[in-house]
Amino acid sequence: MGFVDVRKKQLFLNPEKITITEDNGEVKELYCFVGQHGYIYQKEEFIEVLEKAMEFYNRPDAEELIEKQNDDQFFWWGMQHAIHYLNCEETNDGKYTFPKPDFKKKKFTQTRNWSVKCNWCGKKVSNTEQEHYFTLNNTELGLSMERACTDVCATHIWNESASNWIFARGYEKYFVMDKGES
Ligand SMILES: [Zn+2]
Repeated sequence: MGFVDVRKKQLFLNPEKITITEDNGEVKELYCFVGQHGYIYQKEEFIEVLEKAMEFYNRPDAEELIEKQNDDQFFWWGMQHAIHYLNCEETNDGKYTFPKPDFKKKKFTQTRNWSVKCNWCGKKVSNTEQEHYFTLNNTELGLSMERACTDVCATHIWNESASNWIFARGYEKYFVMDKGES
């Protein structure tokens, strides 16, 4: 049971230190609680929050609920980090776009004869047949210097790695899995 929507969670009840000098010169450091927009909570509001918080923390299942929520939060932030790294965008239905293929087009050096074996179709291409080949590098997806004969093969390599990556982490319900391939 997710009792907090980890995506919409906002900071609530920020403790604010207040230094008060009493008439006798004694300086006290006290706290008040500040909500959104910097307003200090009224006593009744704060007491209500405090009582409800105590009721929650005193529940026998509180520890279990906290652990579950924190696991969800950990999962969510892990995914946020990866989404940012892979330049995924949020869609209208709250999912994320499938990681967009990212590869480099490399020019064969013409000074010597050499070939590249495609990591997708297995075809060997050389500088006598075509001008370019493609490479893929992405630490998140576990791609390191994968080579492809064409941009089509490079896209296949990318999409397969991204798919595996999503399923391995249980992210499939958060991503649009349709890659728009023709
Ligand atoms: Zn190929």
